[in-house]
Amino acid sequence: MISIFELFSIGLGPSSSHTVGPMRAAYAFCQELIKMELLTQVNRIQVEIFGSLAYTGKGHATNKAILLGLENNLPDAIDPDYLPKRYEAIIASKKINLANKYLIDFDYETQFIFNLKDLLPLHTNGMRFSAYDKQNKLLLEKEFYSIGGGFIITGKDDLKQRAQEKKSQYPYPFDTAAELLALCHQHNKKIWELIFENEATLRSPETVRKGILHIVEVMEQSIERGMKTTGFLPGGLNVRRRAPDLIEKLKEHPESTISHTEVASLDWLNVYAIAVNEENAAGSRVVTAPTNGAAGVLPAVLHYYKAFYNNVGDDEVINFMLTASAIATLYKKGASISAAEVGCQGEVGVASSMAAAAMAAALGGTVEQIASAAEIAMEHNLGLTCDPVGGLVQIPCIERNAIGAVKAVNIARLALLETGQYKKISLDKVIETMLRTGRDMNHHYKETSLGGLAKIKVNVIEC
Ligand code: SF4
Repeated sequence: MISIFELFSIGLGPSSSHTVGPMRAAYAFCQELIKMELLTQVNRIQVEIFGSLAYTGKGHATNKAILLGLENNLPDAIDPDYLPKRYEAIIASKKINLANKYLIDFDYETQFIFNLKDLLPLHTNGMRFSAYDKQNKLLLEKEFYSIGGGFIITGKDDLKQRAQEKKSQYPYPFDTAAELLALCHQHNKKIWELIFENEATLRSPETVRKGILHIVEVMEQSIERGMKTTGFLPGGLNVRRRAPDLIEKLKEHPESTISHTEVASLDWLNVYAIAVNEENAAGSRVVTAPTNGAAGVLPAVLHYYKAFYNNVGDDEVINFMLTASAIATLYKKGASISAAEVGCQGEVGVASSMAAAAMAAALGGTVEQIASAAEIAMEHNLGLTCDPVGGLVQIPCIERNAIGAVKAVNIARLALLETGQYKKISLDKVIETMLRTGRDMNHHYKETSLGGLAKIKVNVIEC
Protein backbone atom coordinates (compact mmCIF):
# COMPACT_ATOMS: atom_id res chain seq x y z
CA MET A 1 0.00 0.00 0.00
CA ILE A 2 1.06 3.55 -0.58
CA SER A 3 0.17 6.06 2.09
CA ILE A 4 -1.67 9.26 1.21
CA PHE A 5 1.23 11.08 2.87
CA GLU A 6 3.70 9.57 0.41
CA LEU A 7 1.49 10.28 -2.58
CA PHE A 8 0.78 13.88 -1.69
CA SER A 9 4.16 15.10 -0.64
CA ILE A 10 4.88 18.73 -0.02
CA GLY A 11 7.83 19.75 -2.12
CA LEU A 12 9.02 22.36 -4.51
CA GLY A 13 8.71 22.85 -8.24
CA PRO A 14 9.13 22.31 -11.04
CA SER A 15 9.19 18.49 -11.10
CA SER A 16 8.63 15.69 -8.64
CA SER A 17 10.69 13.18 -10.62
CA HIS A 18 13.39 15.63 -11.72
CA THR A 19 13.58 17.97 -8.71
CA VAL A 20 12.01 16.38 -5.61
CA GLY A 21 13.27 12.79 -6.18
CA PRO A 22 16.86 13.80 -7.06
CA MET A 23 17.08 16.05 -4.00
CA ARG A 24 15.91 13.15 -1.82
CA ALA A 25 18.44 10.82 -3.48
CA ALA A 26 21.34 13.22 -2.90
CA TYR A 27 20.25 13.67 0.71
CA ALA A 28 20.03 9.89 1.16
CA PHE A 29 23.53 9.44 -0.27
CA CYS A 30 25.01 11.80 2.32
CA GLN A 31 23.03 10.09 5.08
CA GLU A 32 24.63 6.82 3.97
CA LEU A 33 28.10 8.41 4.16
CA ILE A 34 27.31 9.53 7.69
CA LYS A 35 25.94 6.12 8.69
CA MET A 36 29.07 4.39 7.37
CA GLU A 37 31.28 6.97 9.12
CA LEU A 38 32.82 7.95 5.80
CA LEU A 39 31.77 11.57 5.56
CA THR A 40 34.99 13.14 6.85
CA GLN A 41 37.13 10.93 4.59
CA VAL A 42 35.51 12.30 1.45
CA ASN A 43 37.80 14.41 -0.69
CA ARG A 44 35.91 14.41 -3.97
CA ILE A 45 32.38 13.72 -4.99
CA GLN A 46 31.05 12.95 -8.45
CA VAL A 47 27.44 13.11 -9.62
CA GLU A 48 26.26 11.54 -12.86
CA ILE A 49 22.69 11.77 -14.13
CA PHE A 50 21.26 9.69 -16.94
CA GLY A 51 18.38 9.43 -19.41
CA SER A 52 15.52 11.85 -19.02
CA LEU A 53 17.24 13.50 -16.06
CA ALA A 54 20.23 14.28 -18.28
CA TYR A 55 18.08 15.51 -21.17
CA THR A 56 15.75 17.79 -19.25
CA GLY A 57 17.61 18.17 -15.95
CA LYS A 58 18.67 21.77 -16.51
CA GLY A 59 15.14 22.94 -17.28
CA HIS A 60 13.76 20.89 -14.39
CA ALA A 61 16.40 22.15 -11.91
CA THR A 62 17.73 18.63 -11.29
CA ASN A 63 21.28 19.92 -10.94
CA LYS A 64 20.24 22.53 -8.37
CA ALA A 65 18.12 20.04 -6.43
CA ILE A 66 20.95 17.51 -6.25
CA LEU A 67 23.56 19.96 -5.03
CA LEU A 68 21.20 21.28 -2.37
CA GLY A 69 20.29 17.69 -1.39
CA LEU A 70 23.97 16.93 -0.90
CA GLU A 71 24.00 19.84 1.54
CA ASN A 72 21.30 18.17 3.67
CA ASN A 73 18.20 19.90 2.30
CA LEU A 74 14.90 18.14 1.73
CA PRO A 75 12.12 19.32 -0.62
CA ASP A 76 9.46 19.80 2.05
CA ALA A 77 11.65 21.95 4.29
CA ILE A 78 13.85 24.01 1.97
CA ASP A 79 12.98 27.64 1.35
CA PRO A 80 12.31 27.78 -2.43
CA ASP A 81 14.09 31.18 -2.63
CA TYR A 82 17.22 29.73 -1.03
CA LEU A 83 17.70 27.05 -3.70
CA PRO A 84 18.81 29.18 -6.69
CA LYS A 85 20.94 31.47 -4.51
CA ARG A 86 22.78 28.65 -2.79
CA TYR A 87 23.26 26.85 -6.11
CA GLU A 88 24.98 29.92 -7.56
CA ALA A 89 27.16 30.17 -4.44
CA ILE A 90 28.28 26.53 -4.77
CA ILE A 91 29.18 27.04 -8.43
CA ALA A 92 31.03 30.31 -7.82
CA SER A 93 32.94 29.20 -4.70
CA LYS A 94 33.71 25.72 -6.10
CA LYS A 95 32.93 24.34 -2.65
CA ILE A 96 30.11 22.16 -1.38
CA ASN A 97 29.19 21.56 2.25
CA LEU A 98 28.34 17.83 2.35
CA ALA A 99 25.42 17.08 4.69
CA ASN A 100 25.84 20.67 5.90
CA LYS A 101 28.77 19.34 7.98
CA TYR A 102 31.81 18.88 5.81
CA LEU A 103 33.13 21.40 3.29
CA ILE A 104 35.00 20.05 0.27
CA ASP A 105 36.09 21.33 -3.14
CA PHE A 106 33.56 20.85 -5.90
CA ASP A 107 33.99 21.78 -9.54
CA TYR A 108 30.56 21.63 -11.15
CA GLU A 109 31.96 21.59 -14.70
CA THR A 110 33.91 18.37 -14.20
CA GLN A 111 32.16 16.70 -11.29
CA PHE A 112 28.53 16.97 -12.37
CA ILE A 113 27.99 14.86 -15.47
CA PHE A 114 24.93 14.91 -17.72
CA ASN A 115 25.28 11.50 -19.35
CA LEU A 116 23.22 11.63 -22.57
CA LYS A 117 24.58 8.35 -23.95
CA ASP A 118 24.00 5.70 -21.31
CA LEU A 119 21.12 4.53 -19.18
CA LEU A 120 21.14 2.80 -15.83
CA PRO A 121 19.32 -0.56 -15.98
CA LEU A 122 16.11 -0.04 -14.00
CA HIS A 123 14.64 3.29 -15.08
CA THR A 124 15.50 6.19 -17.35
CA ASN A 125 15.68 8.59 -14.40
CA GLY A 126 18.94 7.21 -13.02
CA MET A 127 21.56 8.91 -10.84
CA ARG A 128 24.96 7.76 -9.65
CA PHE A 129 26.78 9.32 -6.71
CA SER A 130 30.43 8.46 -6.06
CA ALA A 131 32.61 9.59 -3.16
CA TYR A 132 36.43 9.32 -3.20
CA ASP A 133 39.10 9.83 -0.55
CA LYS A 134 42.39 11.77 -0.81
CA GLN A 135 44.11 8.84 -2.54
CA ASN A 136 41.26 8.80 -5.08
CA LYS A 137 40.03 5.49 -3.68
CA LEU A 138 36.30 4.93 -4.07
CA LEU A 139 34.66 5.13 -0.64
CA LEU A 140 31.03 4.75 -1.63
CA GLU A 141 29.07 4.56 -4.87
CA LYS A 142 25.30 4.39 -5.03
CA GLU A 143 22.74 4.43 -7.81
CA PHE A 144 19.26 5.84 -7.31
CA TYR A 145 16.22 6.04 -9.52
CA SER A 146 13.58 8.73 -9.38
CA ILE A 147 10.49 6.79 -10.42
CA GLY A 148 7.88 9.55 -10.42
CA GLY A 149 5.93 11.54 -7.87
CA GLY A 150 9.10 12.16 -5.82
CA PHE A 151 9.54 8.45 -5.03
CA ILE A 152 13.08 7.07 -5.19
CA ILE A 153 14.40 3.52 -5.25
CA THR A 154 17.92 2.14 -5.10
CA GLY A 155 17.44 -1.33 -6.55
CA LYS A 156 15.12 -3.81 -8.20
CA ASP A 157 13.61 -5.21 -5.06
CA ASP A 158 13.18 -1.91 -3.30
CA LEU A 159 9.65 -1.09 -4.36
CA LYS A 160 8.41 -4.67 -4.36
CA GLN A 161 9.62 -5.24 -0.81
CA ARG A 162 8.24 -1.93 0.38
CA ALA A 163 4.83 -2.66 -1.09
CA GLN A 164 4.70 -6.09 0.47
CA GLU A 165 5.86 -4.97 3.92
CA LYS A 166 3.29 -2.24 4.05
CA LYS A 167 0.43 -4.19 2.50
CA SER A 168 0.29 -6.55 5.44
CA GLN A 169 -0.03 -3.63 7.85
CA TYR A 170 -3.35 -2.48 6.43
CA PRO A 171 -6.82 -3.92 7.13
CA TYR A 172 -7.99 -3.34 3.55
CA PRO A 173 -5.13 -4.21 1.18
CA PHE A 174 -5.73 -3.88 -2.56
CA ASP A 175 -3.67 -3.82 -5.73
CA THR A 176 -6.37 -3.42 -8.37
CA ALA A 177 -9.60 -1.52 -8.87
CA ALA A 178 -11.50 -4.82 -8.88
CA GLU A 179 -10.10 -5.62 -5.41
CA LEU A 180 -10.87 -2.13 -4.16
CA LEU A 181 -14.49 -2.30 -5.35
CA ALA A 182 -14.90 -5.80 -3.91
CA LEU A 183 -13.67 -4.57 -0.51
CA CYS A 184 -16.16 -1.69 -0.62
CA HIS A 185 -19.04 -4.10 -1.28
CA GLN A 186 -17.86 -6.75 1.16
CA HIS A 187 -17.56 -4.26 4.05
CA ASN A 188 -20.29 -1.93 2.88
CA LYS A 189 -17.94 1.02 2.95
CA LYS A 190 -17.09 3.95 0.72
CA ILE A 191 -13.64 4.17 -0.84
CA TRP A 192 -12.62 7.00 1.47
CA GLU A 193 -13.67 5.00 4.54
CA LEU A 194 -11.39 2.11 3.58
CA ILE A 195 -8.47 4.40 2.87
CA PHE A 196 -9.02 6.32 6.10
CA GLU A 197 -9.03 3.10 8.13
CA ASN A 198 -5.90 1.93 6.35
CA GLU A 199 -4.14 5.20 7.18
CA ALA A 200 -5.38 5.10 10.77
CA THR A 201 -3.47 1.86 11.38
CA LEU A 202 -0.21 3.80 11.10
CA ARG A 203 -1.24 7.03 12.81
CA SER A 204 -4.05 8.20 15.07
CA PRO A 205 -7.26 9.18 13.23
CA GLU A 206 -6.76 12.75 14.37
CA THR A 207 -3.24 12.81 12.94
CA VAL A 208 -4.55 11.49 9.62
CA ARG A 209 -7.22 14.20 9.46
CA LYS A 210 -4.83 16.97 10.44
CA GLY A 211 -2.20 15.72 8.01
CA ILE A 212 -4.62 15.71 5.10
CA LEU A 213 -5.91 19.17 5.99
CA HIS A 214 -2.34 20.43 6.13
CA ILE A 215 -1.69 19.09 2.61
CA VAL A 216 -4.85 20.83 1.43
CA GLU A 217 -3.73 24.05 3.11
CA VAL A 218 -0.45 23.97 1.15
CA MET A 219 -2.42 23.29 -2.06
CA GLU A 220 -4.67 26.27 -1.31
CA GLN A 221 -1.67 28.49 -0.62
CA SER A 222 -0.21 27.60 -4.00
CA ILE A 223 -3.50 28.64 -5.66
CA GLU A 224 -3.56 31.89 -3.70
CA ARG A 225 0.06 32.81 -4.46
CA GLY A 226 -0.33 31.91 -8.12
CA MET A 227 -3.47 34.05 -8.42
CA LYS A 228 -1.58 37.09 -7.12
CA THR A 229 1.90 36.76 -8.58
CA THR A 230 2.72 38.55 -11.83
CA GLY A 231 5.86 38.63 -13.97
CA PHE A 232 7.71 36.11 -16.09
CA LEU A 233 8.62 32.52 -15.32
CA PRO A 234 12.28 31.57 -15.04
CA GLY A 235 14.16 29.48 -17.60
CA GLY A 236 14.48 31.73 -20.65
CA LEU A 237 11.22 31.01 -22.48
CA ASN A 238 9.80 34.34 -21.33
CA VAL A 239 6.46 32.79 -20.40
CA ARG A 240 4.30 35.40 -18.70
CA ARG A 241 2.32 34.45 -15.62
CA ARG A 242 -1.32 34.68 -16.66
CA ALA A 243 -3.44 33.81 -13.63
CA PRO A 244 -3.79 37.38 -12.22
CA ASP A 245 -4.66 38.78 -15.67
CA LEU A 246 -7.24 36.10 -16.25
CA ILE A 247 -8.86 37.02 -12.93
CA GLU A 248 -9.09 40.65 -14.07
CA LYS A 249 -10.97 39.44 -17.14
CA LEU A 250 -13.32 37.36 -15.00
CA LYS A 251 -14.48 40.33 -12.97
CA GLU A 252 -17.76 40.26 -14.84
CA HIS A 253 -18.40 36.85 -13.30
CA PRO A 254 -17.01 36.93 -9.75
CA GLU A 255 -16.84 33.53 -8.02
CA SER A 256 -19.35 34.61 -5.40
CA THR A 257 -22.10 35.38 -7.90
CA ILE A 258 -22.12 32.28 -10.08
CA SER A 259 -22.96 28.65 -9.51
CA HIS A 260 -21.29 25.45 -10.66
CA THR A 261 -24.00 25.00 -13.29
CA GLU A 262 -22.87 28.11 -15.14
CA VAL A 263 -20.12 27.74 -17.72
CA ALA A 264 -18.34 30.76 -16.24
CA SER A 265 -17.44 28.61 -13.24
CA LEU A 266 -15.13 26.66 -15.55
CA ASP A 267 -13.20 29.86 -16.27
CA TRP A 268 -12.37 29.96 -12.58
CA LEU A 269 -11.40 26.30 -12.59
CA ASN A 270 -8.90 27.12 -15.37
CA VAL A 271 -7.47 29.94 -13.30
CA TYR A 272 -6.95 27.76 -10.18
CA ALA A 273 -5.02 25.14 -12.16
CA ILE A 274 -2.94 27.70 -14.04
CA ALA A 275 -2.13 29.48 -10.77
CA VAL A 276 -0.71 26.30 -9.19
CA ASN A 277 1.31 25.33 -12.23
CA GLU A 278 2.75 28.80 -12.62
CA GLU A 279 3.89 28.48 -9.03
CA ASN A 280 5.35 25.07 -9.83
CA ALA A 281 7.16 26.38 -12.89
CA ALA A 282 8.62 29.14 -10.72
CA GLY A 283 10.13 26.53 -8.39
CA SER A 284 7.78 27.46 -5.57
CA ARG A 285 6.12 25.26 -2.93
CA VAL A 286 3.52 22.81 -4.32
CA VAL A 287 2.13 19.37 -3.49
CA THR A 288 2.78 16.37 -5.75
CA ALA A 289 -0.65 15.27 -6.99
CA PRO A 290 0.51 12.76 -8.14
CA THR A 291 3.48 14.68 -9.57
CA ASN A 292 4.60 18.29 -9.67
CA GLY A 293 4.05 18.71 -13.41
CA ALA A 294 0.43 17.73 -12.78
CA ALA A 295 0.19 19.50 -9.41
CA GLY A 296 -2.59 21.85 -10.51
CA VAL A 297 -5.39 19.49 -11.53
CA LEU A 298 -6.50 18.08 -8.19
CA PRO A 299 -6.17 21.30 -6.10
CA ALA A 300 -8.07 23.17 -8.82
CA VAL A 301 -10.96 20.69 -8.82
CA LEU A 302 -11.01 20.61 -5.01
CA HIS A 303 -11.02 24.40 -4.82
CA TYR A 304 -13.78 24.51 -7.43
CA TYR A 305 -15.80 22.05 -5.34
CA LYS A 306 -15.36 24.26 -2.27
CA ALA A 307 -16.08 27.50 -4.12
CA PHE A 308 -19.14 26.48 -6.10
CA TYR A 309 -20.92 23.85 -4.00
CA ASN A 310 -22.63 24.32 -0.67
CA ASN A 311 -21.75 22.75 2.65
CA VAL A 312 -18.25 21.62 1.79
CA GLY A 313 -16.48 21.33 5.13
CA ASP A 314 -13.38 19.53 6.40
CA ASP A 315 -15.03 16.09 6.21
CA GLU A 316 -15.94 16.52 2.56
CA VAL A 317 -12.46 17.82 1.74
CA ILE A 318 -10.81 14.87 3.51
CA ASN A 319 -13.06 12.36 1.72
CA PHE A 320 -12.21 13.98 -1.61
CA MET A 321 -8.49 13.61 -0.95
CA LEU A 322 -8.79 10.03 0.31
CA THR A 323 -10.70 8.99 -2.82
CA ALA A 324 -8.12 10.65 -5.07
CA SER A 325 -5.31 8.88 -3.25
CA ALA A 326 -6.96 5.47 -3.77
CA ILE A 327 -7.02 6.08 -7.53
CA ALA A 328 -3.40 7.29 -7.57
CA THR A 329 -2.38 4.11 -5.73
CA LEU A 330 -3.94 1.99 -8.47
CA TYR A 331 -1.89 3.75 -11.15
CA LYS A 332 1.28 3.66 -9.09
CA LYS A 333 0.88 -0.07 -8.53
CA GLY A 334 -0.54 -1.09 -11.91
CA ALA A 335 1.29 1.27 -14.26
CA SER A 336 3.42 4.32 -13.59
CA ILE A 337 3.19 7.98 -12.66
CA SER A 338 6.51 8.78 -14.29
CA ALA A 339 6.40 10.74 -17.56
CA ALA A 340 9.87 9.42 -18.35
CA GLU A 341 8.28 5.95 -18.42
CA VAL A 342 4.79 6.53 -19.84
CA GLY A 343 4.57 10.15 -21.00
CA CYS A 344 2.11 12.73 -19.73
CA GLN A 345 -0.59 10.06 -19.46
CA GLY A 346 1.12 9.21 -16.15
CA GLU A 347 1.08 12.80 -14.93
CA VAL A 348 -1.82 14.94 -16.12
CA GLY A 349 -3.69 11.80 -17.23
CA VAL A 350 -3.50 10.27 -13.77
CA ALA A 351 -4.22 13.59 -12.05
CA SER A 352 -7.33 14.00 -14.18
CA SER A 353 -8.42 10.46 -13.36
CA MET A 354 -7.90 11.07 -9.63
CA ALA A 355 -9.79 14.36 -9.74
CA ALA A 356 -12.68 12.92 -11.79
CA ALA A 357 -13.07 10.07 -9.29
CA ALA A 358 -12.82 12.38 -6.28
CA MET A 359 -15.39 14.75 -7.76
CA ALA A 360 -17.74 11.87 -8.61
CA ALA A 361 -17.43 10.71 -4.99
CA ALA A 362 -18.04 14.24 -3.72
CA LEU A 363 -21.23 14.43 -5.78
CA GLY A 364 -22.52 11.24 -4.20
CA GLY A 365 -21.42 8.67 -6.78
CA THR A 366 -21.46 4.96 -6.08
CA VAL A 367 -18.18 3.06 -6.12
CA GLU A 368 -18.97 1.93 -9.68
CA GLN A 369 -19.60 5.51 -10.78
CA ILE A 370 -16.39 6.66 -9.10
CA ALA A 371 -14.38 3.93 -10.85
CA SER A 372 -16.13 4.79 -14.09
CA ALA A 373 -15.15 8.46 -13.75
CA ALA A 374 -11.51 7.46 -13.17
CA GLU A 375 -11.65 5.14 -16.18
CA ILE A 376 -13.22 7.68 -18.55
CA ALA A 377 -10.62 10.29 -17.60
CA MET A 378 -7.73 8.00 -18.44
CA GLU A 379 -9.42 6.66 -21.55
CA HIS A 380 -9.34 10.19 -22.94
CA ASN A 381 -5.78 10.86 -21.92
CA LEU A 382 -4.30 7.71 -23.46
CA GLY A 383 -1.32 8.50 -25.64
CA LEU A 384 -0.72 11.91 -24.08
CA THR A 385 2.95 12.65 -24.68
CA CYS A 386 5.46 14.56 -22.61
CA ASP A 387 7.34 17.08 -24.76
CA PRO A 388 8.00 20.17 -22.63
CA VAL A 389 9.47 23.05 -24.61
CA GLY A 390 13.02 23.85 -23.55
CA GLY A 391 12.84 21.06 -20.96
CA LEU A 392 10.86 23.47 -18.77
CA VAL A 393 7.62 22.52 -17.04
CA GLN A 394 5.74 25.39 -18.70
CA ILE A 395 4.59 24.68 -22.26
CA PRO A 396 2.36 22.66 -22.59
CA CYS A 397 2.28 21.78 -18.89
CA ILE A 398 0.58 24.83 -17.37
CA GLU A 399 -2.41 24.91 -19.70
CA ARG A 400 -2.54 21.14 -19.77
CA ASN A 401 -3.38 21.15 -16.07
CA ALA A 402 -6.30 23.48 -16.71
CA ILE A 403 -7.57 21.19 -19.45
CA GLY A 404 -7.11 18.18 -17.16
CA ALA A 405 -9.14 19.87 -14.42
CA VAL A 406 -12.02 20.89 -16.69
CA LYS A 407 -12.05 17.40 -18.16
CA ALA A 408 -12.26 15.90 -14.68
CA VAL A 409 -15.32 17.96 -13.70
CA ASN A 410 -17.05 17.18 -16.98
CA ILE A 411 -16.28 13.48 -16.62
CA ALA A 412 -17.53 13.31 -13.02
CA ARG A 413 -20.85 14.72 -14.22
CA LEU A 414 -20.98 12.32 -17.15
CA ALA A 415 -20.18 9.31 -14.97
CA LEU A 416 -23.01 10.20 -12.59
CA LEU A 417 -25.55 10.04 -15.39
CA GLU A 418 -25.08 6.27 -15.61
CA THR A 419 -24.71 3.47 -13.10
CA GLY A 420 -21.19 2.51 -14.18
CA GLN A 421 -22.16 -1.16 -13.90
CA TYR A 422 -22.22 -2.08 -17.56
CA LYS A 423 -18.94 -0.62 -18.72
CA LYS A 424 -17.09 -2.36 -21.51
CA ILE A 425 -13.72 -1.12 -20.28
CA SER A 426 -12.89 -1.42 -16.61
CA LEU A 427 -10.56 0.88 -14.68
CA ASP A 428 -8.02 -1.95 -14.38
CA LYS A 429 -8.08 -2.45 -18.15
CA VAL A 430 -7.47 1.21 -18.88
CA ILE A 431 -4.60 1.30 -16.37
CA GLU A 432 -3.02 -1.67 -18.11
CA THR A 433 -3.60 -0.01 -21.50
CA MET A 434 -1.96 3.17 -20.29
CA LEU A 435 1.13 1.21 -19.28
CA ARG A 436 1.28 -0.62 -22.62
CA THR A 437 0.77 2.62 -24.54
CA GLY A 438 3.59 4.18 -22.53
CA ARG A 439 5.89 1.29 -23.32
CA ASP A 440 5.11 1.61 -27.04
CA MET A 441 5.74 5.35 -27.00
CA ASN A 442 8.94 6.56 -28.64
CA HIS A 443 11.38 7.90 -26.04
CA HIS A 444 11.27 11.30 -27.77
CA TYR A 445 7.87 11.74 -26.09
CA LYS A 446 8.84 10.64 -22.61
CA GLU A 447 10.30 13.70 -20.90
CA THR A 448 13.38 14.00 -23.08
CA SER A 449 12.33 17.15 -24.96
CA LEU A 450 13.51 15.48 -28.18
CA GLY A 451 10.17 15.48 -30.01
CA GLY A 452 6.75 17.07 -30.38
CA LEU A 453 6.28 20.62 -29.17
CA ALA A 454 9.80 20.62 -27.78
CA LYS A 455 11.15 20.52 -31.35
CA ILE A 456 9.26 23.60 -32.46
CA LYS A 457 11.54 26.60 -32.76
CA VAL A 458 10.78 29.03 -29.97
CA ASN A 459 13.00 31.62 -28.44
CA VAL A 460 14.73 29.55 -25.79
CA ILE A 461 17.60 31.18 -24.00
CA GLU A 462 20.02 28.53 -22.73
CA CYS A 463 20.48 28.72 -18.98
S1 SF4 B 1 4.19 17.54 -20.56
FE1 SF4 B 1 3.10 16.60 -18.84
S2 SF4 B 1 4.47 15.04 -18.07
FE2 SF4 B 1 5.70 16.36 -19.38
S3 SF4 B 1 6.64 17.84 -17.97
FE3 SF4 B 1 4.72 18.72 -18.74
S4 SF4 B 1 3.15 18.14 -17.22
FE4 SF4 B 1 4.94 16.83 -16.85
